[in-house]
Amino acid sequence: MSMANPNSGHYALRDLGKLGMVKNVITQNVDSFHPRAHPEIPTLELHGYLRSAVCITCRNEHPRDVFQTELARLNPAWKEFLKEAISSGALETEDPDEKRTRGIKMNADGDVEVPGAPYTTFRYPACPTCLARPPPLADGTKGVVEVDRDGALEPTSTAGILKPAVVLFGDSISAEVKHAADEAIDSAGRLLVLGTSLATYSAWRLAKRAKDRGMPIAVINMGGVRGEEAFFTDLDPKQAGGRGVRTEISTESLLPALVHEMRKSEARSHQDAPHVASFERTNPAEVFRDFLS
Ligand SMILES: [Zn+2]
Repeated sequence: MSMANPNSGHYALRDLGKLGMVKNVITQNVDSFHPRAHPEIPTLELHGYLRSAVCITCRNEHPRDVFQTELARLNPAWKEFLKEAISSGALETEDPDEKRTRGIKMNADGDVEVPGAPYTTFRYPACPTCLARPPPLADGTKGVVEVDRDGALEPTSTAGILKPAVVLFGDSISAEVKHAADEAIDSAGRLLVLGTSLATYSAWRLAKRAKDRGMPIAVINMGGVRGEEAFFTDLDPKQAGGRGVRTEISTESLLPALVHEMRKSEARSHQDAPHVASFERTNPAEVFRDFLS
């Protein structure tokens, strides 16, 4: 994951931001590609981010790479296993048989079996903040944070557990993030839904909120979108895209084309009026141009 990079869609959003067309981004992705590609546009990461580990007691965040280095140091058998799995290509296939021939055995529950290293012996570092100063717990008592001589958290500890700073299944989104997402929607004039089926309630709810506020919505997604009929049924079938757009094109091809169109029309606006009048609709990016202008 640390070797992956943002794609042309992420950079096209950056360019739309420069053109004044995109003011806020809300993402469900945890890969940090949006903040990396367009640091100038505020990005709200609805489900958190993998770049940090967060302490479940004090909520302080720590850089993920430091956490990862510590995990490797405390679990040498796992480190070796991962190294071998990467070099054999076992992580690049989803096929269980193929994985097995490349050295990875999956348990019935889908977990990877690491020879000589059961999950129960996996060790992890303590939150440095809680270790330095054990925090008070919800019941008023002082938390216990104990580590062995290698620095691995002891099972006697009652605080200081680190986890990736993402919303995992069963977790809920924090009240602050929910509120910030509502604010981003309420301050917008239009909503562009890009490359998501809105399957999670936390994301669908925001599109619904925009619709309830009478906002035009454009949905670009390959495949179905949760409750999408509700976003478009009330629109006049003759509307040309200014009130809503729905299309199945990849964002990676559509967004750069849209940037191209916006730049062309910006250049055209500095010329004489007849050029504007002779503008012809030939591709979907032009429909979006109308949606955004
Ligand atoms: Zn802590």
